[in-house]
Amino acid sequence: MYCPFCSANDTKVIDSRLVSDGHQVRRRRECLACHERYTTFETAELVMPRIIKRDGSREPFNEEKMRSGLLRALEKRPVSTEEIELSINKLKSQLRATGEREVGSEMLGTLIMQQLKGLDKVAYIRFASVYRSFEDIKEFGEEIARLGDDD
Ligand SMILES: [Zn+2]
Repeated sequence: MYCPFCSANDTKVIDSRLVSDGHQVRRRRECLACHERYTTFETAELVMPRIIKRDGSREPFNEEKMRSGLLRALEKRPVSTEEIELSINKLKSQLRATGEREVGSEMLGTLIMQQLKGLDKVAYIRFASVYRSFEDIKEFGEEIARLGDDD
């Protein structure tokens, strides 16, 4: 690839390691022309199922959209970027493992909630309250009570 600093195309890899539970390769590269260093991430490209929205329309799976949903729920929570990336990788594996060409957005939402539940309960409640749009405060309270039961 071209150096992002000077556009030369000769680089050498100075470090290479597995990250995100082995689902990604992180490489440190040095440009042979200008000697700037930068990082690249390599991930296998696998086909993800398309998402069937509530109104019946289909859209391609959008990793960034899923990430921003997770990040919104996890805002100011004590969860590391590494843990979040790990969850995103797990979610992608789960989606691929369905073997389906299309999955419903409810299923995706449920998978995301399961991941959030394991990461941070406050984030889980935030996401669930938006996603499920709890009918009333009683239902919301019941969900919180159920969370308590899991401990
Ligand atoms: Zn360069």
